[in-house]
Amino acid sequence: MFLQHIPASDIFQTDIPKLPMGKYAHIVLLRETNSFALFQTDGELNLGRVSLGRKSENQRPASRIVLFKRKQSTPERLTGRELLRRYGIVTACEYNSSDFCKKCPDCIYYGFAIGDKGSERSKVLVDSAFSITGYDTSHQQFTFNAPYENGTMSEGGKMKTSLGEQDYVLPQVYFPAVVTIKDPTEAEFIYVLNNILRTRRYGAQNTRTGTVQNLVAAIVFADGEIFSNLQLCQATYDILTPEQRAKSPLLREDVQNAVTTVIPSLLQEDGVVFRLLTGDTLEALLQETLQLTSDESRLRAVLTQANAETLRYAESFGIESKVAKSTKK
Ligand SMILES: [Zn+2]
Repeated sequence: MFLQHIPASDIFQTDIPKLPMGKYAHIVLLRETNSFALFQTDGELNLGRVSLGRKSENQRPASRIVLFKRKQSTPERLTGRELLRRYGIVTACEYNSSDFCKKCPDCIYYGFAIGDKGSERSKVLVDSAFSITGYDTSHQQFTFNAPYENGTMSEGGKMKTSLGEQDYVLPQVYFPAVVTIKDPTEAEFIYVLNNILRTRRYGAQNTRTGTVQNLVAAIVFADGEIFSNLQLCQATYDILTPEQRAKSPLLREDVQNAVTTVIPSLLQEDGVVFRLLTGDTLEALLQETLQLTSDESRLRAVLTQANAETLRYAESFGIESKVAKSTKK
């Protein structure tokens, strides 16, 4: 046992189960941009046209900035993989290739697919997140010069005309987002939470322009799925007062209070059995996690245990296990 501040002794699996067993850990986040972020695909900022809120008076549609699933999960995976290498726990596993090792915590928790050779389902579920504020007030377009190496726009008497344009997300824009872990073991829960807490750079694949701070608003242990990112975003919008919504940027405290207020009623709608951690109980668990993950020997112990568990799972149920081979015949 690594954590003391958990609400019950049976919220984690002791081993990664072969089949889904109905234990869920949902980490409810507010992802806050801390700089000018590029959340783009093919040079375009990703937008989604959705209703502002859920209440009847807030049904009118607006364009919100979308933070796609992979834009969230990829940097978090890479954080975990970096740590596994840093402490020499995983040495041969190549991300997004046919040389995925198929047995390390990254491969088993987050899943992989290798052409027709098989796949491992992801146990960490992430979905597109929407900005609380609309596109209009959440972005800024910058025109930039692409100068010659001499630092000017002219060379040999020729003027360079190549100006670039980029659409950036402003700092202090909020994206409510739920990260769900299905049937987590304790080590897996810590591994995934640590990845979320440590990851700072999201956005465009090549530069990862855009620092983001992940504020944990709640952790929900439940026996099923809970509300979507869009529902959480719209419910948060509904509960912010017109004065609060008019502020640009939104006040972090207003947003945090709004999110914490709407979570219990959203959970009631979900009709699941749940244990909700907010406020002091959440803070205690987060502090305990941070103490653990900032202590080299304890972090190493968590990673080692996570790796032992995923290796055991891969040997028993993975795509190269005896079970998989016998069912293929
Ligand atoms: Zn691997």
